[in-house]
Amino acid sequence: MFNDVNDLSDCTILLVEDSPINQKVIQCCLEDICEIVTFASAEEAIEYCLQTPPDIILMDWILDGMSGVQACQLLQKEPTTANIPIIFVTSNTSEHQQEECWDAGGVDFIGKPIVARTLVNRVRTHLKYKKQADVLREYSYVDGLTGVYNRRYFEQELERFMRQSQRTTSSLSLIILDVDFFKKYNDYYGHLEGDDVLKSVAQTLQKNTRRPLDCAFRYGGEEFAVLLPNTPVDSAVKIAENIIQDIHALAIEHTESPMQVVTASAGVADNHSTNETDTLINLADKALYAAKHSGRNQVKQL
Ligand code: GH3
Ligand code: MG
Ligand code: MG
Ligand code: MG
Repeated sequence: MFNDVNDLSDCTILLVEDSPINQKVIQCCLEDICEIVTFASAEEAIEYCLQTPPDIILMDWILDGMSGVQACQLLQKEPTTANIPIIFVTSNTSEHQQEECWDAGGVDFIGKPIVARTLVNRVRTHLKYKKQADVLREYSYVDGLTGVYNRRYFEQELERFMRQSQRTTSSLSLIILDVDFFKKYNDYYGHLEGDDVLKSVAQTLQKNTRRPLDCAFRYGGEEFAVLLPNTPVDSAVKIAENIIQDIHALAIEHTESPMQVVTASAGVADNHSTNETDTLINLADKALYAAKHSGRNQVKQL
């Protein structure tokens, strides 16, 4: 899993430097490592970072407009950019300025004039750590059986999207889906066959959540969740109905179910009546309960 950590070619370095000569020198030193994107101002760099987070940032200390330190502090506050290591590039390496660099949240600093080998080695080292941390974070968020995100990530993302939708006054919908008569399936076909069903259900969820922000999670056991930012409940119901139909259409034999094939039920809710994540989950759960009680293999909304 860590074999490719030494291959940094898929990484991106963001260079924020207002002197054209320094830009050239640094680009020359680093061009063999990976792609470098360069901006002369912190304002432009931040805008870029929020859209396309790079793997590491080399930040000039003195810039026109916003300073390197201010930019660093801002980037640390934003969840999408908080994990990006920032290395300061500075001609003043006095004790006071070193302290400022650490206080701002920088991971390192490189003195000017640039020593090529030092720059290359520092950047390589920090990129490697960053890549390892990314891989570990990704693994800790993925469900081992089905390959969709796990409940830990669900809780984190639900919080994040709830806050975002409050800020932007947009809708956030939640689908909770539960496989029907799954205990009977396991009892009749065995646990391993049951596991295969969960994998197929997860694939069906992934197929139906193709918009960039939509995301599927294994909530626990045979229960899944789908988060749909910027989506009102009516649109979410349509997506849930497609998922339920697609699971039915897999036509996985289940002789112990009245439907004779594997099916699932889903509950859908959106956040128009609440800002609380727990309440949104409870609403979707209630709707799921209603779907179960109306005969399963269907979607209900609340
Ligand atoms: P309902 O239609 O009301 O949802 O009934 P159900 O049988 O699906 O629900 P119940 O909660 O009674 O049973 C869920 C079953 O899911 C029991 C458990 O053995 C099974 N299950 C949970 N996690 C896994 C898993 O990782 N693999 C397999 N194969 N089965 C699992
Ligand atoms: Mg400068
Ligand atoms: Mg269940
Ligand atoms: Mg079930």
